Amino acid sequence: MAFPEPPCAECAEQLEYSVEILRYVCGNFECSALGMEIPVWRALQQSGLAAPATTGLPRPVRGGLPVPWVAPWTADYVFWFALDGARCAAAHNQWLCQVCGDELPDEAWVLATPEGQVLQAALHKKCKDLALEFCPHLSSADTRAVPMLVSRDALSADGHPLRDAGPSDPLYLQQWEVTT
Ligand SMILES: [Zn+2]
Ligand SMILES: [Zn+2]
Repeated sequence: MAFPEPPCAECAEQLEYSVEILRYVCGNFECSALGMEIPVWRALQQSGLAAPATTGLPRPVRGGLPVPWVAPWTADYVFWFALDGARCAAAHNQWLCQVCGDELPDEAWVLATPEGQVLQAALHKKCKDLALEFCPHLSSADTRAVPMLVSRDALSADGHPLRDAGPSDPLYLQQWEVTT
């Protein structure tokens, strides 16, 4: 699988990928975007390398694993540990499933840490089971996240009940918490 090498949107030189920050950076000293951190999904989108977002089940499979809707990917490379900010914001704002991208019923599942921090967005029951089966890190000793069935009323974003919170922004995603 070829690692994607998108060009800089400003100077068209190839961006460098930083494994420390999991973002692309322009290293061209003559570019106005020198040193600017560019999220993976943005770089892929701006360069036209992003694969189209496919919704629904079954998910496309890469390397034997189902590709979640919110994962940034190209025709032949998946950034498993990055999030597509635009899709994640849409999942937040429109109550869509982060695994399949389809609409959710009034009550849906979230994976929440013992402190109530939601791992990004909500999911269908089937998609939650899929995520836990194929992404064991979601419920590992690091996060200790457990599935919870919630409605939007049980969630808050950055300290505000979800209904009063401003919309999630692709570059400043909401952090959801379970409040009840
Ligand atoms: Zn540049
Ligand atoms: Zn789903």
